[in-house]
Amino acid sequence: MPDDYKAPLPSPTPDSQPFWEAAKRHQLRIQRCRSCNQAYFYPRNVCPHCLSSDVEWFTATGRGRLHTFSIVYRGLKYPPLEPPYVLAMVELDEGPRMMTNLVGVEPDPARISCDMPVVVEWADVTPDVTLPRFRPA
Ligand code: ZN
Repeated sequence: MPDDYKAPLPSPTPDSQPFWEAAKRHQLRIQRCRSCNQAYFYPRNVCPHCLSSDVEWFTATGRGRLHTFSIVYRGLKYPPLEPPYVLAMVELDEGPRMMTNLVGVEPDPARISCDMPVVVEWADVTPDVTLPRFRPA
């Protein structure tokens, strides 16, 4: 675990706290609506599909496909990853899409393609914060 992590960290809200607590246990917890049965992300207490407040948390498989990506060649002031790195949008098998990083592969457009299968991996960036990232499955 790097103790020099300088990138911005999440600020959990009451709605997102269960997500971050589960991440610390290396579990990808997202929400599902009991009325229309659709999963969604980011965390909120009202279903974005049908506006029902009858929602629940569940553990996702952590598997999905790369929906889209961008290779970042210039770092920010406090980069979470050394450039070049891959900014990715992953579509989970359960349906929702997440902004994340693709790791475990050279940041080379010849090695990365949309729809490639991916799986979550966990980055314990501080003693209190774990971030989900994805790698090729
Ligand atoms: Zn719903």
